[in-house]
Amino acid sequence: MTRTAPTAETSAALFARAGKVIPGGVNSPVRAFYAVGGTPRFIARAQGCHLYDADGADYVDLVSSWGPMILGHAHPAVVEAVARAAVGGLSFGAPTEAEVELAEEIIDRVDPVQRVRLVNSGTEATMSAIRLARGFTGRSKIIKFAGCYHGHVDALLADAGSGVATLGLPTSPGVTGATAHDTIVLPYNDLKAVAKAFEEFGDEIAAVITEAAAGNMGAVAPRDGFNAGLRELTARHGALLIIDEVMTGFRVSPAGWYGLEGVAGDLYTFGKVMSGGLPAAAFGGRADVMERLAPTGPVYQAGTLSGNPVAVAAGLATLRNADVDVYAALDANADRLGELFTGALTSAGVSHRVQRAGSLISIFFTDDPDTEIVDYAGVKATDTWRFAPFFHALLDRGVYAPPSAFEAWFVSAALGDDAFSRIADALPAAAEAAGAARRPGETD
Ligand code: PLP
Repeated sequence: MTRTAPTAETSAALFARAGKVIPGGVNSPVRAFYAVGGTPRFIARAQGCHLYDADGADYVDLVSSWGPMILGHAHPAVVEAVARAAVGGLSFGAPTEAEVELAEEIIDRVDPVQRVRLVNSGTEATMSAIRLARGFTGRSKIIKFAGCYHGHVDALLADAGSGVATLGLPTSPGVTGATAHDTIVLPYNDLKAVAKAFEEFGDEIAAVITEAAAGNMGAVAPRDGFNAGLRELTARHGALLIIDEVMTGFRVSPAGWYGLEGVAGDLYTFGKVMSGGLPAAAFGGRADVMERLAPTGPVYQAGTLSGNPVAVAAGLATLRNADVDVYAALDANADRLGELFTGALTSAGVSHRVQRAGSLISIFFTDDPDTEIVDYAGVKATDTWRFAPFFHALLDRGVYAPPSAFEAWFVSAALGDDAFSRIADALPAAAEAAGAARRPGETD
């Protein structure tokens, strides 16, 4: 079916209006489309695998609110649970049974997690996990990996300086040198670098934090033995291993990446899927570590809206409806999407590599398609300038992709045959557009 490119007049007017009252017109930077240019679509509503924008155009959604919507948008069971909870009161500032049920659901799914504390965002989860790790170990330094994102926690907005085991430099104004100085930034998937950092700073390192599988530089899975190696090194040096499953948790399997790999962390962070799309997140882990939190322990952490009844209802309903069929559908849909990418790009003669981390999926435009991309340097070396025309050709044809070459694509279980035919129809033009793109500064 041929579609006419939808206009984005209303979105453009809203974006201009938003720019006068909201910095950059958006409440989270990637939404502004700076990486791909053009007008961000203002979304009016969503249902199943479809987004509907303010101009009335509909899109097959391959972002899924950056991960949470595994069941698709406005899933009836989730909407019903949210409505029921809302009628019962929006916030109490006192404990509820549903919070206990959500903690139990998480603990039942992820074996190494013995205690859970609910918070409001993934950022809050990682910030709290780091404070707890520091409080538990009495040490200051944290190891993180370049290209892994853990939210906008000051300590984690650091970049590697020169040298391998280098102390971090702030990547954002407003993050002090002292804060970043306690962060050691190493290349992802490089166990030797981690071992070297432990040799040098071993008794100062409180924790290693890693995405269970990297999804924030595109899908870059840990190499065999990487997470297990982190487990071994941290245990040997008395540091904690914080596994960030905000993106992978309850998406790539019922137990997240842990369910695929079985490497146990000391602390975990969760968000996205377990929130059902409302603002909720969690951190959890070993009982002896978690019990160091206030009120049983001295490490302070709190939240007025933490465990909010409506958010908890959305999370619980999402997890309870995410059964084996849903996980099978997520995997099958990622397979199908990957095959379509490869088919269209190969037909158009565009050299590329489709990478997966569970059902997270990414396309890297690279001249060396047989070489796995294992770290951020590898991602940055790809032809990311091919991505914007690829993205816009899809958007014009009713397919909503993540608006950055450095993001993973998120499938939902709601993608059906109609959605896949639309994607299949859109991809040849997108592949042509990617192939025709010119490196910045290059002319024919
Ligand atoms: N950790 C990971 C792995 C994430 O992908 C994100 C967000 O994308 C976060 C933490 C931060 O979560 P939030 O955006 O809810 O603060």
